[in-house]
Amino acid sequence: MDREGIILSAETSFLDITGYDAHEILRRNLKDFVPEHLHFLLNNGFKGLAESDDLLKINGIHKKDFEIPLQFTVKEDPGEPQTFFINIKDVSYRKEIENQLLTSRENYQILAETATDAIVQINSDFNITFANSAVQRVFGYDSLEIENNNVGILFPRSRYSKYEKQFEKYFYIDDTHRADTGLKNSLEVLGRNKNGDLIPLEISFGNSKGSQNTRRLTCIIRDIASRKKSERRLKYLAYHDKLTTLGNRDRLVESLDQLLAEIERQPDRKGALLFLDLDGFKKVNDSLGHEMGDAILKECAKRLMNSLRKNDQVYRIQVEDIFRLGGDEFTLLLPYINKIEDAAIVARRIISRILEPFNIDGYGSITHINMGVSIGIVMIPQDGKDRTTLLRNADSAMYKAKELGNKYVFFTNDMNNMAIERLMLEEGLRKSLGTKNFSVYYQPILNAEREILGVEALIRWFHDKEGMIPPKKFISIAEDTGLILPIGRWVLETACRHLKIWQDSGFGHLHLAVNISARQLEQGDLGNVIQEVVKKLGVNSGKLKLELTETCVMNNPESAIDKMNDITSSNPGIKIAIDDFGTGYSSFGYLSRFPVNDLKIDRSFVINLSRETNKKIINSIVTLGESLGLTVVAEGVETGEHFQYLKERNCNLFQGFYFSKPVPFEDMTELLEAGKL
Ligand code: C2E
Ligand code: CA
Ligand code: CA
Repeated sequence: MDREGIILSAETSFLDITGYDAHEILRRNLKDFVPEHLHFLLNNGFKGLAESDDLLKINGIHKKDFEIPLQFTVKEDPGEPQTFFINIKDVSYRKEIENQLLTSRENYQILAETATDAIVQINSDFNITFANSAVQRVFGYDSLEIENNNVGILFPRSRYSKYEKQFEKYFYIDDTHRADTGLKNSLEVLGRNKNGDLIPLEISFGNSKGSQNTRRLTCIIRDIASRKKSERRLKYLAYHDKLTTLGNRDRLVESLDQLLAEIERQPDRKGALLFLDLDGFKKVNDSLGHEMGDAILKECAKRLMNSLRKNDQVYRIQVEDIFRLGGDEFTLLLPYINKIEDAAIVARRIISRILEPFNIDGYGSITHINMGVSIGIVMIPQDGKDRTTLLRNADSAMYKAKELGNKYVFFTNDMNNMAIERLMLEEGLRKSLGTKNFSVYYQPILNAEREILGVEALIRWFHDKEGMIPPKKFISIAEDTGLILPIGRWVLETACRHLKIWQDSGFGHLHLAVNISARQLEQGDLGNVIQEVVKKLGVNSGKLKLELTETCVMNNPESAIDKMNDITSSNPGIKIAIDDFGTGYSSFGYLSRFPVNDLKIDRSFVINLSRETNKKIINSIVTLGESLGLTVVAEGVETGEHFQYLKERNCNLFQGFYFSKPVPFEDMTELLEAGKL
């Protein structure tokens, strides 16, 4: 500048700061680039500034008309007096930002280099402009090796053109707008490494604009091979049963839904579902232990897989179509079936395979075990168009098969009605718990002289809408659902309360018989429950008699003996009767070991006394009772002839409509007062 402030020459840095071209500033006064209100700072001339060595803080005006904070230092040109150099420094934020950018670029590079994911930057021609060193780890290429190459080098050729179209979108749509456009934040694609091997990758994207508005896409590329593997493993675990390796319930649900969708699209197609439940498994599991149980389940799974796969005549079943639902329940899906009979053939084959003896190796020796299986069959879509209905119907059919034992049963609609009724009853039972809807009736038990020696407590259920529902209809449901436990306890308490009243009014000799279901006996602490109730109500346990059915005790005799001994030891004097005797299969050996007092001849033999075989059965039960020193009770005595016959055959006690139907507590009290019937 000359001494007036006319600009004689300028370095480009001045042009950068002010935004002007050289020709726009040369020969102009410096003041033109300083706002007018600050001109006074320059009024003292430059000589003074040059001599004082001071920093002059002043604003300049940018070509785009904004002010820029500047710092001037002035020096006089020693070779040419009255000419000054001004050193101008831009102290605005812009500078600061530029500096920050510089450091952040360094940071970015450090970041890119330390990342374990491969980072690749590409331009809009899909050429690689940057690659970090992790590219080596993921793809086997040196970063310099791939820079300036097309990014297609990292992907299998067959897929790349599809990928390129996807990548392209990420150039223009940045992450804040991805959600609106349905663009995912990352893509799972297949990559190809330097050796030509395929690698599963996950790529996330970030776009940016470089200088001259060039678009850049930064791709963060993660090798997800190990994640894919563990995902597969997790999925496998989630859908398979560990013990048998068969698909589990979730898997069945998936397959069944898929099959239903297929069948819906192909109206002529039919399928079937077989619902299997092993017969006698629980017994094996309880008596021989869980290891043995597991071994049996494994063997069953094997038999299902092998026998059915080899079967080429009727049906080839894929292993994927066999499932274990848990416990001893299995399911088989037949995705294609020509006629209903084919399902029956498969079911028959399964039954015969399972009936072959199991030779289980355990504890150093081979155990031979016999098992059976019951099968319910539903046809798809005939018996249900959705999964829930099909499974429910298959379950109903299986339930029916179970009643028959070792059979297969096709679902029919009246089973559905039965199932609905069961559900309704179950619901009703729950609601009636603890209400007046339940009541205990009593039926007298007499000796040959027709004196009342005891009573049997029989539960009655008065349903709000359906009226009286006989125990035959609801006891089994109560058993299946476990509701028998609270119900049974309630019966015991109520009957003991009544017994106490009778004992206190002079009928101290009276026996009270209470029915105990299998489920109650299985429950570990029945002895304690009885002890508690007896104590609470102050009755004499010596007058209590438990009626256990023959099937219940013979189902698992050893465990029944333990339970009975437990009950008698915690309740002194308590008696045990075997109910419905003659309908099960008792062995003489066990019978002599049971701590029982009475045998109750099943009422069906008495009611149909006219049949010769029934007479024979009754005679042998009486003989058996005599030889074991047991009291023989005949129930179902409906006529004088019945009574006469049984009395002559030396039955000890009698019970039946001939004397009295089961009656409420008050009526029973009246009968007791009469004494003889
Ligand atoms: P159960 O233990 O064999 O009871 C005797 C059944 O025979 C009673 O039926 C009784 O009413 C009936 N009965 C008595 N005399 C005659 C007769 O002369 N002719 C005919 N045809 N039947 C006669 P109920 O009360 O319907 O009970 C049926 C079954 O329900 C009982 O058979 C018992 O197994 C079960 N049950 C009843 N109450 C209870 C209870 O509180 N707990 C448990 N676990 N089961 C019970
Ligand atoms: Ca009974
Ligand atoms: Ca009975």
